[in-house]
Amino acid sequence: MDNLEELYNDIIMEHSMNSYNKKELKSCDFCEMGHNPNCGDEIKLEVKLNGDIIEDMAFTGHGCAISQSSTSVMIDVLKGKTIKEAKDIIETFINMIKREIKDEKELEKLEDAIAFKNISNMPARVKCALLAWHTMEELLNKKGE
Ligand code: ZN
Repeated sequence: MDNLEELYNDIIMEHSMNSYNKKELKSCDFCEMGHNPNCGDEIKLEVKLNGDIIEDMAFTGHGCAISQSSTSVMIDVLKGKTIKEAKDIIETFINMIKREIKDEKELEKLEDAIAFKNISNMPARVKCALLAWHTMEELLNKKGE
């Protein structure tokens, strides 16, 4: 278990320090701002769709390591997925943080985002970890209007 937690921390550190997803897209179909006043985290998500597939995604912004790496990991996980799959993954992530997942197998679809599982032990960081996911949920919901 210790090793697993170290691995998770590595994923979070790697994405917070060196995010290749942190940039602006040349053309983006949708963008959405996210803000977590508790911590001062701010992100802007950019999404390019190809039909109902998330063809490309990127973000800009600033904030704590958790918010920035959670955004970057989310982009890695959602890129290439359909909107329907993305909504399902976002819901699973939010439920994982809320500790509402009963079947651990459900978490497999989160790929690297499972690294944030233990963030629920740090209540002050929960909003940081969820910022990108709630922002993306908002973006996809608006897109459907
Ligand atoms: Zn934060």
